[in-house]
Amino acid sequence: MGLGSYIADLYEGFTSVWDAMVVGLQGYVDKPVTLEYPDERVRLPKNSRMQLFNRIEDCIGCNMCAMACPVDCIYIDTVKAAKGEAMPEQYLGKTRDGKEKKLYVTRFDIDMAKCCYCNLCTFPCPTEGLTMTPRFEASVLNRNDLVYHFSQMTPPEIEKVTKAAEEEKKAAEAAKAAAADAKAEAAKAAPPAAAPAAAPAKPAAPAPTPAEPPKAPEPPK
Ligand code: SF4
Ligand code: SF4
Repeated sequence: MGLGSYIADLYEGFTSVWDAMVVGLQGYVDKPVTLEYPDERVRLPKNSRMQLFNRIEDCIGCNMCAMACPVDCIYIDTVKAAKGEAMPEQYLGKTRDGKEKKLYVTRFDIDMAKCCYCNLCTFPCPTEGLTMTPRFEASVLNRNDLVYHFSQMTPPEIEKVTKAAEEEKKAAEAAKAAAADAKAEAAKAAPPAAAPAAAPAKPAAPAPTPAEPPKAPEPPK
């Protein structure tokens, strides 16, 4: 090893120590890029696709969101509202944009553990009640806690509206069957209708035109 190589190694050693010190000292003057979570939180944009939220007061139970979901993680049950049933106003009535609610949404669950955050369910929602929020802190100890329940109906209320809907359906079916029976009875009791008059005879076909008489043979010349 010559003197030149010794001096080159020495120079390289000093410069690499200097470079490392510069990087270390830079940390004191540069702005930090990390956050002291959970004391500090990143502010996500408003249209971030994080946890889903359904404003249940605006849900008409149309099932469009569930049909759009590629992983089938939205579960909806509805019951048709029976006429004249007295239930709390928030279950029926109208949505924010004036759509009439004709179904009780007895179940509206979203399994966020299965959700792939594609946002496809929010676009078909006719009332824009289903949205993705910027809320991202959703860790839980029990996986079942990731199934979000949005329906506010209690089990006794669900039982009551289901029973009323079944009774109304049965009454409608009975009325329909009675109407059909009455119609059949009326048809039996009615006198047989007179036979329709015979159709007029077809006009006789025109007589065929007589064939041209054969020509007389010419006399011999
Ligand atoms: S974001 Fe996508 S995966 Fe999640 S519930 Fe909506 S449609 Fe389904
Ligand atoms: S598409 Fe909207 S209104 Fe229809 S069931 Fe889903 S959340 Fe409710």
